[in-house]
Amino acid sequence: MIKFTKSFKTPDPIPQAGIEQAIKLMQKGRLYRYNFSDDFNNYSQRCELNNEDEELATEVAKLEHEFSLYTKHKYVVAVNSCGSSIFLALKAVGVELGNKVLTNAFTFTAVPSSIVHAGGVPIYVECNSEYIIDIEDLQSKIKVHPDAKFFVLSYMRGHISNLDTIKNICNQAGIYLIEDCAHSLGAEWDGQLVGNHGEIACFSTQSYKLLNSGEGGLIATNNAQFAAYCILAAGSYEKLYKKHIARPDDDNLFEKLKPHVPNFSLRMSNLTAAVLRPQMEYLEHKISSGQQRYDCLIQTLSSVRNIYIPSPLKKVKRAPDSLQFNLVGLTSEQVEQFLQQTSERGVAIQIFGRYDNSRYYKNWQYSFKETPCLEKTESIISLACDIRLPSSFDADDIKLIGYIIKDVLYKILRIDDHQDYPNGLTDHFETIEEVRGKYDSWVLFYDQEHYDNGWTVLLNHIAYTLTSYLKQDTLILDIGCGTGLLARELNSYGFKNIQGLDISQNSLDLLKDQEIYNALHLEELGNTLSFADNRFDALVSTGVFTRNQVPLESFKELIRILKPGGIFAVVLRVEDDDLYYKPIQDYCDLNMWQEILKTKISVLKSCNHELVILQKSSIGKH
Ligand SMILES: *Cc1c(COP(=O)(O)O)cnc(C)c1O
Repeated sequence: MIKFTKSFKTPDPIPQAGIEQAIKLMQKGRLYRYNFSDDFNNYSQRCELNNEDEELATEVAKLEHEFSLYTKHKYVVAVNSCGSSIFLALKAVGVELGNKVLTNAFTFTAVPSSIVHAGGVPIYVECNSEYIIDIEDLQSKIKVHPDAKFFVLSYMRGHISNLDTIKNICNQAGIYLIEDCAHSLGAEWDGQLVGNHGEIACFSTQSYKLLNSGEGGLIATNNAQFAAYCILAAGSYEKLYKKHIARPDDDNLFEKLKPHVPNFSLRMSNLTAAVLRPQMEYLEHKISSGQQRYDCLIQTLSSVRNIYIPSPLKKVKRAPDSLQFNLVGLTSEQVEQFLQQTSERGVAIQIFGRYDNSRYYKNWQYSFKETPCLEKTESIISLACDIRLPSSFDADDIKLIGYIIKDVLYKILRIDDHQDYPNGLTDHFETIEEVRGKYDSWVLFYDQEHYDNGWTVLLNHIAYTLTSYLKQDTLILDIGCGTGLLARELNSYGFKNIQGLDISQNSLDLLKDQEIYNALHLEELGNTLSFADNRFDALVSTGVFTRNQVPLESFKELIRILKPGGIFAVVLRVEDDDLYYKPIQDYCDLNMWQEILKTKISVLKSCNHELVILQKSSIGKH
């Protein structure tokens, strides 16, 4: 059984420039962000610092400035975590002891914790099946709690709620909107980066986020009053606020506020900023490669009926670094099996709604006296799976993860006491009409039956195996395509250039409006096929060369339409060894093709199968 061996917890390494700068800071001891000489006066980017040591002491100020250019905010304050950012943001907008603060029920424990830290009382808003704020519930919570004047909107795992609607609702109700962008740096709503839709935005640079400094957070805002508050409260005492670049220019604002603002000592270390700054230039690349890993995995999982992947709203451009999906139609026992078996095979999947998961609201008892009733969120997160997709994973890793998830799921969904072919399948067909009639009338219950008997396990395995033998754009002919089950698996691994051939018109009719095949051909094996010589890069066939359904002479035509060097992947019944395997070997002896793989895959109760891969000889005649 194939296992995945890479770690899901691997953080991104620090660029060399960051490592070197950090070492320099340590050599000089300049780790404190305000380590300037006393006569230092008002640092701005334009003014040159008088020596290299002082230059070194400005890493945090420069990071704040560079971050503000990226997020398009006037003011940025760096702190020691996103949790601290949210805490300071809440204090800045005026949260006082006992104030109600609306927030997502589906988020990370750091969010309600920050609310509690600021003296607030979280009012949890339900999420919907797309993992975003349920607008109806937001409206009803505002109605029930008209005194709630703050909203920490969390873009949990980068899922972006309907910001047009939420901004409207908040404006009308006079609610301060704070955006928790911990997991959505680089994501956009309607062409504008998230973080620009509320009063204050909070970001994280904890190791599992887009920027990695182990710990770290940033506060971004265009409001001078809030910015000045955060700078002072983060730990800028006396005249130290002057050592910020991305700050309000008005010194009076700071002087007036200062006596009223506590110093919570939440500053970011200079060392942290030094490892973060060089990462900024890789952001766009990180975002696009994360999107590629995400797209690849959802494509691989697209062939499974029991997985629901939430889709973003139209105006959203995501910046995903993980995948969330819901299991559909599984019993709780099957869910347990799924978690255990994927984990045994190296694929780490967490379910949000679990008592060992800090993203489950019922585990936040510190934030309520009575467990809130959140039925919608409960029903979604109790089956919501979470997989990290770190940048150390390449396209092959993602396909293997997808393969394992499907392999486990298809095996679990296979019905143990299911008869392989409950409607009866004769072992021997007298005429081709008998074969045609069988498949024509089988069409409507074909897929379900093959899910139930585990045939999908075999198809997933074949399609995954072929990723090692065929390029994505390979022109493939699926022989005996039926209802398209095999091609759906092939599609899911990126093979999109597939044509289908079948004897059954009903099967082809069913496929007509689906985007599985590029072309469909009603043809009969054993006859001369309507294709030119050397037409296809590859031929695939499952469930065809069995039970004497097709004449032995078929192979000759297949060799003719296959390109020299092309691949024929065929699934045979082990029990049919003499019937079909023997003539295949005869062609091997004639040097028409060579066998490059023969491997057993047993999924059905009634018989055993094997995959045989043949490669047509490059030279010689046919
Ligand atoms: C990680 C995370 C936080 C907390 O960030 P820290 O920097 O660890 O405090 C908050 N909200 C969300 C959605 C997160 O994913």
